[in-house]
Amino acid sequence: MQNSPRIALITGANKGIGFEICRQIGRTGATVLLGARKPAAGEKAAAMLVAEGLIVRFIGLDVDDRPSVSAAADLIAAEYGSLDVLVNNAGITDAADGPPSRASLDAVERIFRTNFLGALAVTQAMLPLLRRSQAARIVNVSSGLGSLTLNGDPGHSFAATKLIGYSASKAALNMLTVQLAYELRDTAIKVNSADPGFTATDLNGHRGHQTIPEGAAEAIRLAMLPDDGPDGGYSSTEGTVPW
Ligand code: NAP
Repeated sequence: MQNSPRIALITGANKGIGFEICRQIGRTGATVLLGARKPAAGEKAAAMLVAEGLIVRFIGLDVDDRPSVSAAADLIAAEYGSLDVLVNNAGITDAADGPPSRASLDAVERIFRTNFLGALAVTQAMLPLLRRSQAARIVNVSSGLGSLTLNGDPGHSFAATKLIGYSASKAALNMLTVQLAYELRDTAIKVNSADPGFTATDLNGHRGHQTIPEGAAEAIRLAMLPDDGPDGGYSSTEGTVPW
């Protein structure tokens, strides 16, 4: 049976996969905190889901801004006291990323600040609240491009997609999953990486072949895992993804 969260926080949720994760978790009756760095976009997205009858509140959260991360954690602590689900979904690509020989170092640094350090910062800030939950779930929205195994397979369908900044940031995010799951192994908190699959969103100019609900499905499943579900794993809707 699925776990039913009471309070869930999703980062980078004003559009795309994060927005859909808010909608589907909201449909379980949970209070959803829709994290977004731009207040106007966040308020508008939350209002759309409220109009659908869901309990959704915009929370200002720029994962690349430490005061913003601490302020969000303080607000959640003061108003809710605990957190059942954290989905580290906020992520970026960068036009100046590319293969290792020529990717812009500035672009690689920007990507890491959001995709890896941002997720680490939010996780550290929210952990005290997650520890107060009966059965917390942390989902790191990774990518198949973060798989070292698939990157090393010249026959893989995305073998030619070599974006050192983006792919390494997702491999680093996967390391967060593995190490945090180990650290929290004696707690009720489960930590997993989700690979959405290639999904049509703004991130890739809508070139993905999956719909947004399809891309959100695995993160949603991992956010509501039952107590006997996996911990420290990396999966897509098709099953386990090799590290
Ligand atoms: P998207 O539509 O571009 O959404 C990305 C979201 O992240 C936006 O809401 C964006 O906010 C937010 N964001 C970026 N930087 C942020 C920051 N510093 N603080 C807070 N929010 C920030 O892309 P998406 O496809 O839904 O991506 C969601 C996640 O899925 C990402 O982690 C991505 O890497 C991952 N993913 C996507 C695919 C795919 O094919 N689409 C495949 C594998 C993995 P703004 O509107 O303010 O920019």
